[in-house]
Amino acid sequence: MDAPLSPAVSAEGRYDVIVVGSGGGLIGAYTAASRGLRTLVIEKSSHVGGTTAWSGAGIWLPGNPAILRAGIEDSPAAARAYLDALIGDDAPAELREAYLVSGPPLIEELEANPRFGQFTWRPIPEYYEGRPGFLRKGRTVFPADIARSDLGELEPLVRRPLWTERWGIEPPEQMVGGQALIARALLALMETGNAEVLTSTALTDVIVEDGRVVGIEAVHGDHGDQVDGAPVRFYADRGVLLAAGGFEHNRALREKHQAPITGEWTSGVPSNTGDALAAAVAIGADTALLDEAWFAPGLVTPHGWPLFYTMVWGGVWVDSTGRRFMNERLPYDRAGHEILRRHGEDGVTALPVHWVFDQRQVDAEAFTFLPVDPQLPGWFDADRWLEAGALVRADTLEDLAAQLGIPADGLTETVDEYNGFAREGIDERFHRGEAPWDRMVAAVVGPHTDGPNRCLGVIDQRPYYAVQVVVTDLGTKGGVRTDASARVLRPDGSVIDGLYASGNTMAPALGRIYPGAGGPIGSAMVFSWLAALDMAGATSD
Ligand SMILES: Cc1cc2nc3c(=O)[nH]c(=O)nc-3n(C[C@H](O)[C@H](O)[C@H](O)COP(=O)(O)OP(=O)(O)OC[C@H]3O[C@@H](n4cnc5c(N)ncnc54)[C@H](O)[C@@H]3O)c2cc1C
Repeated sequence: MDAPLSPAVSAEGRYDVIVVGSGGGLIGAYTAASRGLRTLVIEKSSHVGGTTAWSGAGIWLPGNPAILRAGIEDSPAAARAYLDALIGDDAPAELREAYLVSGPPLIEELEANPRFGQFTWRPIPEYYEGRPGFLRKGRTVFPADIARSDLGELEPLVRRPLWTERWGIEPPEQMVGGQALIARALLALMETGNAEVLTSTALTDVIVEDGRVVGIEAVHGDHGDQVDGAPVRFYADRGVLLAAGGFEHNRALREKHQAPITGEWTSGVPSNTGDALAAAVAIGADTALLDEAWFAPGLVTPHGWPLFYTMVWGGVWVDSTGRRFMNERLPYDRAGHEILRRHGEDGVTALPVHWVFDQRQVDAEAFTFLPVDPQLPGWFDADRWLEAGALVRADTLEDLAAQLGIPADGLTETVDEYNGFAREGIDERFHRGEAPWDRMVAAVVGPHTDGPNRCLGVIDQRPYYAVQVVVTDLGTKGGVRTDASARVLRPDGSVIDGLYASGNTMAPALGRIYPGAGGPIGSAMVFSWLAALDMAGATSD
């Protein structure tokens, strides 16, 4: 390799492009640097990658080359009806159009660099069956794995996997998912020879001169996820891209816009506290959809952190009335929204949800919350969970209800009705097991039963158990309003020259919906790319 790979820590300086945040923002940094623009990435935490590095790195981009290589018939046009029907007026149509048409050229550009390698399509049903344009096989692609050793001296810079940071599990030699995406993007970026990456450096302000954003003020210090060092200024001739994630760990903003969610259950990295959002708003940026997040059910574990999971195996979910209120297998973002909708309705509490199941589930060790499995051997140990209060057990449903503080008649009637559905194979109330997503879960984590509906197993083997489910998120979703080139807008629709936003810092192109696996990272990549193209003076076609 000719170009220097080691990120240099420089003093205050002048660049063409500054990227704030090193998750999806790395795609923008690479795009700019590979076009010869001197690019600075600043990253608040001591590692590169953000929540993107913790993710599975599914990327939802209709009609991209990896989908077509897999022999799937698809195109941006085919997905247009799907997004139009789902998003409606919740986000500007021009944003979703930009999202749709950018997917194929973006993947084509990245695949042209061997550091990115080829992306691979994997079958994951989309999340809204029955909508026009819905694709049963899905439109999600993944980056290629990469050996940790291929990163050389850059390896220690990459944020560790979620399970390493939370449970101390040794990171595997083969980097997969978000680890691989960030590793590949970092390698490609540094090989351009046009980039510097400063970790432990946090944006505090955006510098405006003559109505144009010309740089940023930041603090630099070595404090892991939070930074409070000496202030520094960096200048950018072409523009500043705010790609600093959402405000998932900003309790005040959460309470203001998302109560009862406060942020303590989020699965986003701790450094995402909405700094870029605040800096943009301070210079007049408009915002939208601040009440939104990429929601998911979170299982409350003895470790304290709710575990984001996507695949519910057995049992039923009940609210404070002891009754079901949803298909427990809804795709995770829809499930999160449904819990929040139910919570507070007619005085009902659905936070937490009580997940009630029987001994059969415990025997089957069916707490495999794929695909985000904590990978701890024997991590579900019923005795340990009981001791920690994360699991409740009783010999009868009446006793279980008493321990949970919910009406016994509600719970027994619910389980009776559900068992009838299970024996018949049809969930007449919530249609569990009918959508392709539900059935994929049965295929991946194993059938709940060999009865007529593989997603509906009878609950009748004592003792009975309950765990708590809350609403976690993969990051907040609302943010700074932009145009289709990711340029930040004022409330009157005018552009703030020199300022761009992407990923969870940006108000979402996808509005209130999560169309299929990979919506967040798809959005982060596309709008980082478009911002860099705009700064480079190029266009996507
Ligand atoms: C377990 C898990 C699995 C997931 N799987 C998927 C998946 O398969 N597909 C998908 O699409 N989504 C997935 N997600 C969600 C997705 O990872 C995130 O929503 C997305 O990566 C956010 O990208 P981002 O670039 O906006 O933010 P991030 O990747 O979080 O990057 C933001 C970066 O900005 C930095 N930063 C914050 N403030 C400042 C500041 N003041 N100055 C400088 N830097 C700052 C942060 O430290 C962080 O590194 C998953 C999430 C989790 C937790």
